[in-house]
Order: sequence, then structure tokens, then C-alpha cells
Amino acid sequence: MKTHFFTLLFVCCLSSSFAQRTAPDLLPGKQGTLTVQPIVHASLVLTGSGKVIYVDPTGGASGYAGLAAPDIILITDIHGDHLSSATIDSVKTPNTILVVPQAVADKLPEADKARAVILKNGESTVQAGIGIRAIPMYNLPESPTAAHTRGRGNGYILTIAGKKVYISGDTQGIPEMRALTGIDVAFVCMNLPYTMDINEAADAVLAFKPKIVYPYHYRGRGGLSDVNAFKGLVEAGNKGIEVRLLNWYPPTPKP
Ligand code: ZN
Repeated sequence: MKTHFFTLLFVCCLSSSFAQRTAPDLLPGKQGTLTVQPIVHASLVLTGSGKVIYVDPTGGASGYAGLAAPDIILITDIHGDHLSSATIDSVKTPNTILVVPQAVADKLPEADKARAVILKNGESTVQAGIGIRAIPMYNLPESPTAAHTRGRGNGYILTIAGKKVYISGDTQGIPEMRALTGIDVAFVCMNLPYTMDINEAADAVLAFKPKIVYPYHYRGRGGLSDVNAFKGLVEAGNKGIEVRLLNWYPPTPKP
């Protein structure tokens, strides 16, 4: 009985720490299920092909409580909503593979930098059986003083659970995004003044036609972008593209 009591207590504690996290979205397919777990803003966890991938982990360990540890951590860019060395440190294991652009590697602690897999825009790698390709992400018009200059950060395309998954990073509707083909699942940013508005995002999505698109990274200076209006624009342009809205901004858990 004692054991049961403590098991129950443990489960209760775990579930209360989960309470603030958005429920995961499950995408079943012929090669298994891809699980999409929003954490916050640009941070997400993808699970499929028996692997766990953390994208831009931020916000500290509490946001990841109860989730499996990452086989791979992908970082897109140097800003604090994408790169948090403290969060990386709190969630990684000795076996976690870090995949980053050079500018991020340069900001990592020496030990992490030494073992990181560094990808330039356009380069590919296979890590833990997962195909990973780095895609440009940048502001338009290009300018040396833009928040996101071409070549510094990476968007990514992953091949996981038989699906091609695109993670935009912080970008506008650049030609490289519009020219993508065969994307099953896309995560597309939309927030001003840092990336693009919902009209530009919808127009880019209608150009590259993913099967499913999730708006993410949609909190800007003026609050949250109108992702419902984004969904309306995409669906009015192409009913074959499914827009899935998840809550990427759950209330901050109490300590
Ligand atoms: Zn950002």
C-alpha cells in the first residue's frame, strides 16, 4: 500500500507540473506517429522514429518536466528566445547531439561548442538516424542591420516518422521558403517587427503548400498575431493545406 501511495503522490505531482503545458498534437502516419509538443513561442519538442528532438529549448527545465530527454537539440539562432545555454544545460544528457549554426556555436560553452554539429545554410547531416538540412532564414529587404541577416541562423528540414518537417526559424517569406517542396508539416513564424505579418506568412505558405502548417513564434511587440485570420487566409487560398492552431503561450507555471 505504501508503494501505491507514493506512486500516486508522484503521479499527482507530475500531472500538476504538466498542468500549464499545451497538450501534444499527434500526427499518425505509415511510419509511426509524429508527436508535436509546443513548449513556448519558438520552443517545441518533436518525437518520432524513436527519437526526441528539442528545438530551441528555452525557459528552463520546468517547461520540459516529465518529457523524455533529447537525442538531438536544434538551435536556429543566437537570440534569447532561441538560444538559452542554461536551458540546454538543464535538459541535455551526455549523449545529446547539438545541431547549430556557427554563430550559435560561438556563443556556447567551450565543451558544447567542441562537440556541436555545425551546419551552414544549405548543408545537411544525419544524426541519430534523423536527416537534418539547414535552410536560410532572414529579414527582407536584406540589410546588414536587420534583426536576422542571411547566413547567420538556420531554419531546418527534418525527416522524422516518414515526414518532412520544416521549422522556419525567424524569417520572412524568403524565396528559399517559397521554393520548398514536399513538406508534410511546417512551423512558420509570424510576429512583427521581428519576422513577418500574417499576410506575408499566408502568402508564403500558399506558395510552398505544406500538408499541415502550425503558426508558431507569433508573439510580437503588439501582442499575439491573429493566427485565426492567418488560418482563414490560408484556407481561402488552398483548402488542401491544413492549419493547426495550438496554444504556444500557456500561462507561466508558478514556482
Ligand atoms: Zn525569435
